[in-house]
Amino acid sequence: MRLHEYQSKQIFSKFGIPIPRGRVANNASNARQIAEELMTKVVVKAQVLSGGRGKAGGILLAESPEMAETLATKILSMTINQLPVHKVLVDEAVDIEQELYLGITIDRELCLPVIIASAQGGVEIEDTAQKTPEKIAKMPIPILLGVKEYQIRNLSLAIDLPKKYWRPFFLISQGLWQVFRQTDVVLAEINPLVITEKGDLLALDGKIELDDNALFRHEELLELRDLDMEDEVEIEARKVGISYIRLNGNVGCMVNGAGLAMATMDVIKHFGGEPANFLDIGGGASAEKVAAALRLILSDPKVKSVLVNIFGGITRCDEVARGMVQILTKVSNRVPIVIRLEGNHAREAQEILMQQHIQTVVSFTEAAKEAIKLARGE
Ligand code: ADP
Ligand code: MG
Repeated sequence: MRLHEYQSKQIFSKFGIPIPRGRVANNASNARQIAEELMTKVVVKAQVLSGGRGKAGGILLAESPEMAETLATKILSMTINQLPVHKVLVDEAVDIEQELYLGITIDRELCLPVIIASAQGGVEIEDTAQKTPEKIAKMPIPILLGVKEYQIRNLSLAIDLPKKYWRPFFLISQGLWQVFRQTDVVLAEINPLVITEKGDLLALDGKIELDDNALFRHEELLELRDLDMEDEVEIEARKVGISYIRLNGNVGCMVNGAGLAMATMDVIKHFGGEPANFLDIGGGASAEKVAAALRLILSDPKVKSVLVNIFGGITRCDEVARGMVQILTKVSNRVPIVIRLEGNHAREAQEILMQQHIQTVVSFTEAAKEAIKLARGE
């Protein structure tokens, strides 16, 4: 679950990271009012869960409260990377000397959190990462020790940060580490972390991605979820307790168990197909849940065929078959479906499906190949 910039920065602030003065508004007159209260030039910033807002024209400087209102009207009518803007953050405009990058995330190869910094932060960070990766410094953080001052000194040296900023840079790094640990995030990023003309360090932008698997420990954060920014089908799936992630391909996948779901996507890709989604109906799924899953898959217009791959352990194959029949007898204009069921009550399942003249395939690879062929219209 991703948080908006304004939400991320509020969390940063709680952990002692300095942020500019400002507030969020959901209409233009409110934006004007905030600008009046700040009594300075402001930056009006689109709050959408997407990067590159600056480049997309969603971050604009306003010299006066009237201008803030005009710009807010404009930004609130925009869509950025297909996401509608419903809120704007009105922050004091800062005179920037330099834009740095600072982030903490998990390095999967090292199996450790890493702190990443660059003296060339800002909107071109992806470019820097690609063209001059040596300008980006990375250090693992030993989980039990946390962020230590000597480490951040090394990081400061690695990015040629002038010595007078070492102390505030350390305090911000330590704050970011606390955000990472205590909020259970998978990514906490400040880009840009700026050095102002006055010589202060300030987090101008903020991005936090929470670990969904740890959300049960943070009920207060669950309220920050912005459903306007999420895929409708993914929201629907979460309601019925199904893990669904939309992808770009055309072979819909209905699988039980996350491991088998990953393997199914791998096999589809191996044979030259593209999965349209990840879907795990979970263990012991009822016929209703199966029906809901299939409905979700079929609601995606990109789906040209569906591969059902069930290994019945706790899940009973006959329950799955009943769920499938429930839907397949109701939905017209449906796409071809290839079904492979193996394990617990597989024979009963096959009988149920056969009565409805629905064919099943025994082999996993054959099923995948068939689904790919059908998706191609062959
Ligand atoms: P995004 O990363 O989505 O483009 P940012 O919040 O990083 O959005 O803003 C993009 C750029 O706009 C920043 O790199 C910075 O140069 C400028 N900017 C953002 N906020 C402010 C501010 N409060 N004052 C001055 N400039 C800002
Ligand atoms: Mg940014």
